[in-house]
Amino acid sequence: MKAIRVHQFGGPEVLRCEEIERPAPASGQVLVKVQAVGVNPVETYQRSGSNPSIRLPWTPGMDAAGLVESVGPGVTGLKAGDRVYTSDSLSGTYAEWTLCEAVTVHRLADSISFPQGAAVNIPYATAYRALFHRARAQGGETVFIHGASGGVGVAATQIARAAGLTIIGTAGTPEGRKLVEEQGGHHILDHRAPDYLEKAMRLTNGRGVDIILEMLANVNLAKDLPLLSKFGRVIVIGSRGTIDITPRDLMSRDADIRGMMLFNASRAELSGIHAALAAGLENGTLRPVVGRQMPLAEAAKAHIAVLEPGAHGKIVLLP
Ligand code: NAP
Repeated sequence: MKAIRVHQFGGPEVLRCEEIERPAPASGQVLVKVQAVGVNPVETYQRSGSNPSIRLPWTPGMDAAGLVESVGPGVTGLKAGDRVYTSDSLSGTYAEWTLCEAVTVHRLADSISFPQGAAVNIPYATAYRALFHRARAQGGETVFIHGASGGVGVAATQIARAAGLTIIGTAGTPEGRKLVEEQGGHHILDHRAPDYLEKAMRLTNGRGVDIILEMLANVNLAKDLPLLSKFGRVIVIGSRGTIDITPRDLMSRDADIRGMMLFNASRAELSGIHAALAAGLENGTLRPVVGRQMPLAEAAKAHIAVLEPGAHGKIVLLP
């Protein structure tokens, strides 16, 4: 089968498309014929060598959608031909087939296309866990989604809208802002405009926001804290560097900064998250937005694109 392989950590050019042996499912495993692959920023960090426990050669990717090819002994509830999406992979999803543990293979509603299915796992599970497990969001609260135009931001916008929160979402381009509005944002701001945080505060009549989902904490965390209401919480989802903050901004509000890493979720939490996502995908509340589709062999280009500004939905690779 064709698969993207990394033989040494480095820039996007280390992603090479090669012919390798197709894996076979052992006990408790499922082989999925991949129809679409979700590209996430985390795979670019891993490719650069951020995770020393990755053994080379390595095929990136946890997120894909496709059809069950075959199941190993002991797998129940899934059979060849089932439409599925994956939430982890033993062999990597940037490939024509991917080997997964059965618990990480989830049925995909007929109404969701394969490219949309590839856009489910990391973005939607992250948004759900950030909102409900870490921020403990309640209907009626206001959430400021700082970076609402990308994979996680779009997912958070749709989930928060369905849960009865008021959403202030930001994006850096007109296309991104249009997307956030279409996906359910109540108020849309430009995070490149000089006065957007004052505007956000005015939208809350000076009270501040209950929750901030932060996609770029190293740039925004210090500015986030004064925007919080009393008892507000910032959930740090993305950060690419360091930043100075004023701790008094937290004291004066009894506010919290809470980290969130999807990989810390337990099996039980993930099972609950994917049950909730399945319901949302089935009833149309959750509608993954695919921004760009590229051939699998162009994985290197996708890794450059996923870190560029101007996000409008997910980048998906097609084997
Ligand atoms: P993405 O699709 O590339 O989207 C990036 C988002 O960040 C876009 O909405 C972009 O908006 C926005 N952004 C850019 N500059 C910004 C700024 N100055 N202020 C606020 N937002 C800004 O990436 P993603 O998949 O949504 O992931 C977002 C971040 O979360 C990444 O850093 C990723 O590594 C991280 N992440 C963490 C977890 C976790 O478990 N903690 C899970 C998934 C993702 P414009 O392009 O419109 O400017």
